[in-house]
Amino acid sequence: MNDSFIDPEYINNLLENAKFADDSVLALVLDKADRAEQLSHSEIAALLLTENHDHISRIFDIAGKIKKRIYGNRIVMFAPLYVSNYCINRCSYCSFNHGINFNRSKLTMDEIREEVKILEMMGHKRLAIEAGESEKDCSIDYIIECIKTIYDMKFENGEIRRINVNIAATTTENYRKLKNANIGTYILFQETYHEPTYNDVHLAGPKKDFLWHLNAFDRAQDAGIDDVGGGVLFGLANPYFDVMGLLLHNEHLEKKYNTGFHTISVPRLCPAAGININDFPNLVNDETFAKIVAVIRIAVPFTGMILSTRENHDMRKKLLRLGISQISAGSNTEVGGYSVNNLNKESQKQFLVNDERSALSIISELMNDGYIPSFCTACYRGGRTGDRFMSLAKSGQIGNVCLPNALMTLCEYSMDYGDDKFKEKAAEIIKQEIHHIMDENIRSKTIENVEKIRCGAGRDFFV
Ligand code: SAM
Repeated sequence: MNDSFIDPEYINNLLENAKFADDSVLALVLDKADRAEQLSHSEIAALLLTENHDHISRIFDIAGKIKKRIYGNRIVMFAPLYVSNYCINRCSYCSFNHGINFNRSKLTMDEIREEVKILEMMGHKRLAIEAGESEKDCSIDYIIECIKTIYDMKFENGEIRRINVNIAATTTENYRKLKNANIGTYILFQETYHEPTYNDVHLAGPKKDFLWHLNAFDRAQDAGIDDVGGGVLFGLANPYFDVMGLLLHNEHLEKKYNTGFHTISVPRLCPAAGININDFPNLVNDETFAKIVAVIRIAVPFTGMILSTRENHDMRKKLLRLGISQISAGSNTEVGGYSVNNLNKESQKQFLVNDERSALSIISELMNDGYIPSFCTACYRGGRTGDRFMSLAKSGQIGNVCLPNALMTLCEYSMDYGDDKFKEKAAEIIKQEIHHIMDENIRSKTIENVEKIRCGAGRDFFV
């Protein structure tokens, strides 16, 4: 038990009482969700627990509508970059677990440049740095050096414009260093909010301290990082408990810092070297997982939702309709994994990815399915983080800012990386979508900027 903002008894009671929500109660909750009214904790719990197919299909419809209203058809693209697999923790689900024996490594700055060159050739502008925890072998100064190296790289087609960071919970002082290094979102998954399970799966190392991990975002906020992204690893504990934990965590941050999670990630446990996935009794099946994604979308409409290549092609297609707003593409989960000239190195994937398609084929499919792949990083570069981003999202103005930026970055991607067929499709989407920009001035500016890109000029105007 802990004295944190996560009250397990409160969550258990919510889930227990939700079992008694009958069809008429569920119908009222769904009507309320459909009117875009904020749901109470007990109403969210009722949606989570329902197994009635009609209710679930309405949950999907409502989540889809919310997604469309707030995010339109834009999908933000990113890729992970694993820089080090040294780790002093023993997390029973992770192949970087200190107890698993393999040749560990971290990238040199030259190797980082090699990796980033390849990621840039895929068209990526937004990366997420990933690392195990080891102050000795992967110190905060090393991470800062990686960030600086990446930001300093300039290519013919631009540069990496935003680096999100997914490294272990650390001190306020270290978070201050990350803030000064201009990171995008600081991402940290709680793994599970269920403390007994947390203690079971974190066998040793600093990460074993539940409260240290739970309060990491408070320290990050105290250090000035107002752009944070949460998540749980679905498959460890009761998923419904964890969704309620995520929402309470978000509310805690909103109350204390006036801004909650910028993003919520929904990683699901995958097979990994040294791990037997069948040892985990709470694996979440596809149907339940889809319901969870849709309920999170309804519960926190303005929070971006991130889906990685842990999910397979079909699942990604389905979940994009239910609320996901950001996906990775062309991902590799091993240190040095993007480079071809490191084949003589022994490495270890953190987990096996389930969508191995190239970034270009994922991006092409998104367009064929009616989405606008977006490479925009303008909010971060324009200082629209934390409560400034949220007020933009909540005012509905987001469409007037994000849509033109998405179209311009798609135009840029298409000119730099697309073949003729891709360019044709991108041009068709851009022409169609420009008319959805409500503000006349922004519309004409967007047309002007798209034309500039097509002429090969002007790459830094979309802030
Ligand atoms: N070391 C940092 C930490 O402790 O938070 C970063 C963690 S790691 C690079 C990113 C995430 O991968 C973890 O937080 C965990 O949720 C997820 N992960 C680890 N093993 C996994 C597995 N077998 N399947 C799916 N996701 C996994």
